[in-house]
Amino acid sequence: GAKAEGRNAFQYYSSDLNKASLGELLLENQLRGALDRDELLLYYQPKVQASDGRITGAEALLRWSHPELGVLLPGRFIPAAEESGLIVPIGEWVLRHVCAQLRAWLDAGHRPVPIAVNLSAQQFAHQDIALLVRGILTEHRVPAELLELELTETMLMRDVERTVGLLARLRGLGVRLSIDDFGTGYSSLAYLKLFEVDVLKIDRSFVNDIRGDDGEEGKIATAVIALAHSLGHKVVAEGVETKYQRDFLTRQQCDQFQGYLFGHPIPADEFIARLHTDTQT
Ligand code: C2E
Ligand code: MG
Ligand code: MG
Ligand code: MG
Repeated sequence: GAKAEGRNAFQYYSSDLNKASLGELLLENQLRGALDRDELLLYYQPKVQASDGRITGAEALLRWSHPELGVLLPGRFIPAAEESGLIVPIGEWVLRHVCAQLRAWLDAGHRPVPIAVNLSAQQFAHQDIALLVRGILTEHRVPAELLELELTETMLMRDVERTVGLLARLRGLGVRLSIDDFGTGYSSLAYLKLFEVDVLKIDRSFVNDIRGDDGEEGKIATAVIALAHSLGHKVVAEGVETKYQRDFLTRQQCDQFQGYLFGHPIPADEFIARLHTDTQT
């Protein structure tokens, strides 16, 4: 009857849940060894100048080359890394790897552009991130202005007083700072003006709204650009996929673009080759 069916439905549901969390646990265990086994890698996605399409920088994006599952995107493993605290050593690896890469490019005679690294909430809240960044820059003899740190609103808002001090120390080192996924978090405008950052990155979801199929399109993106400029920040639009979006955002005075229209995330050697042809033409 209905009762038995209900119980079966429940058992089915619950064993399904167990399977999912078992998968997560397995992945988390494997992630623990991924650093030692050298399975993490970084891809680089170009950011371009709105006025002429030239590359102004890149964002380093984490990938996990899993022995059985292939190359995994951060969406598959960052949540587990955050939950387990593994994001702290992984985040340190990302910073070191980017600075080592910048050093290698400099040594090879390339003129690299600034590379942005995503920081996680845990790194920002529990580590002395300014000390860590200073140490890594010194270790690899990398000029601070070649490193950019992407922070989210939620991270910044958690303890505003501490954030203001930390941002001042990071700026004192000379690194660039940006607020990522802007507009998706909870942000108080009163506090926003206290945060001395260089760039606001408009979240992809607002860029995706620019489609030319209704009169409401692009209103948030337009407002964010105006807000950023009035606070003295540059604006990067992320997730730009169409020429329509590019042209709309250019009319709104957006400064830079990042998105599939201008390039997918690519391995380091492909990125430097692209940078080379970009600066020659
Ligand atoms: P994010 O920092 O907002 O990075 C931008 C994401 O948008 C990247 O996804 C990028 O591949 C994707 N993207 C760029 N252009 C387009 C486009 O035109 N269309 C679409 N549909 N997507 C586009 P990805 O690489 O999967 O990374 C997802 C998120 O994972 C990042 O979002 C960031 O929050 C996090 N993440 C990546 N690398 C790291 C890392 O080293 N440390 C930490 N803590 N988080 C990371
Ligand atoms: Mg980012
Ligand atoms: Mg982003
Ligand atoms: Mg985003």
